[in-house]
Amino acid sequence: MSEVVSQNKSFIERLPKVELHLHLEGSVRPETLRELARAKGSDTGTVESWIAQRTKSGFRYRDFQDFIEAFKAAALLLETPADYALATTRLIEWLKEQNVRYTEVTFAAGVVLWKQQSLAAIFEAAAAAAAEAEARCGVRVRWIFDAIRQFGAEHARQVLEFAARFRPLGVVAIGIGGDERRGAAELFPDVYRAARDAGLHTTAHAGETCPAQSIRQAVELLGAERIGHGLAAARDPEVMALLRERAVPVEVCLSSNVSTGVLASVQEHPLDRFLAEGLTVTINSDDPAMFGTSLTRELELAAENFSLGRAQLVRLLANAARAAFLPEAEKQALVAEIELAAAG
Ligand SMILES: [Zn+2]
Repeated sequence: MSEVVSQNKSFIERLPKVELHLHLEGSVRPETLRELARAKGSDTGTVESWIAQRTKSGFRYRDFQDFIEAFKAAALLLETPADYALATTRLIEWLKEQNVRYTEVTFAAGVVLWKQQSLAAIFEAAAAAAAEAEARCGVRVRWIFDAIRQFGAEHARQVLEFAARFRPLGVVAIGIGGDERRGAAELFPDVYRAARDAGLHTTAHAGETCPAQSIRQAVELLGAERIGHGLAAARDPEVMALLRERAVPVEVCLSSNVSTGVLASVQEHPLDRFLAEGLTVTINSDDPAMFGTSLTRELELAAENFSLGRAQLVRLLANAARAAFLPEAEKQALVAEIELAAAG
């Protein structure tokens, strides 16, 4: 390892961090899956075969559908409220190791409804675990409830109802994920409007597997305040201009896009263009356990592949702090903490 890379590594490690695009179900590491199986005295065969499949393929999926199936399988390994609580606790402990100071964790509320489990019991357990770990680890946690877009508007409305009900437990936003090709943004304007009326923020995965039009719809029809991935913007100057002019933050997830087969390599990611053309970029790990990564690693990948210096890394983290769904004063406090650590 060159001296510059190694110095950057330790700089990145010690920076206070903000992670905005992080799915709980995609963050359950092999050791936690084994712990879950042991705690329930259940057969570890399913868990071991899931882990073996991921590692054997080097965390690459044949295509986006293959990834969705693997995500579903991971979500099915979480069966009880106690499982969700343990997954949450271990995630926050892992974030503490990375010096993450604030995170918005996406909770696949839509998947829990699809599994026909008690969303209330499961989320209450996860939120209680988060509150305990937050106090112990010093990682502040807020939640985003995610609907499965291909299940349509009525499903998303159900997710919204739960999100609104659980605002007192730290739910700050709703989002849509899943198969962008089978659930266009134009299905959801009413749900997004109702979310705003309920005092929630909004975000959307867009331009991950679909053309730039999907990003335009998420911004213009849904009023999404942040865009997950946003890759396709690079192929449409007008959408680039839209994101820049409205200062819509883009949640870049480098390893994710390579693992799901959307990009052939990290170098193909338009991160450099996003930065050069003045977009508000944040770096995120998405489903770190499914992609063999972490937020720290994603920042390293950004630095290594796009020759980012320290000032740019600090700016990316400050961008995430400013794009957080927090009151202004709390965002400023996070920015100040990041800048102070960078200077020290
Ligand atoms: Zn995602």
